[in-house]
Amino acid sequence: MNNCIFCKIANHEIPGKIIYEDDLCLAFLDLSQATDGHTLIIPKEHYDHFLDVDQDVLAHLIQVTQTVAKKLETKLNAQGFNIITNMNEVAGQTVKHFHIHIIPRYQSHEGFNPEFTDRSKDIDLDKIYNRIMN
Ligand code: 5GP
Ligand code: ZN
Repeated sequence: MNNCIFCKIANHEIPGKIIYEDDLCLAFLDLSQATDGHTLIIPKEHYDHFLDVDQDVLAHLIQVTQTVAKKLETKLNAQGFNIITNMNEVAGQTVKHFHIHIIPRYQSHEGFNPEFTDRSKDIDLDKIYNRIMN
């Protein structure tokens, strides 16, 4: 994908604050820095989103995600992490090159607040389960 910003970072055509790199992937600081150390893990090969990624590449990426998170835990004293990937616009994906967000969490500095709404009183869990299983 010649116009893809993350392909350009992967090919070192435009600069990025790269904190890890190997043959298959790299990790670099997200410009937005939702929290200190907010990092993106990307495959060097272009895949649009999560469901497209080769499974061996994906397995490698999640291992690298753990390695990088351990580094952020040590170096930035992160107290926890949110590890997420957004797939398609409906889920908030803005860059169409697969990436995993590592969002370090701290007691004192919060720029990211995921909240899961509890809909258990309003929904039919059996109905949803049956739709998936049948
Ligand atoms: P998405 O919304 O697709 O899940 O996440 C895309 C992320 O890429 C955003 O958090 C945005 O800040 C980041 N981003 C977009 N363009 C660039 C860029 O050129 N360099 C870096 N380092 N991050 C970028
Ligand atoms: Zn790309």
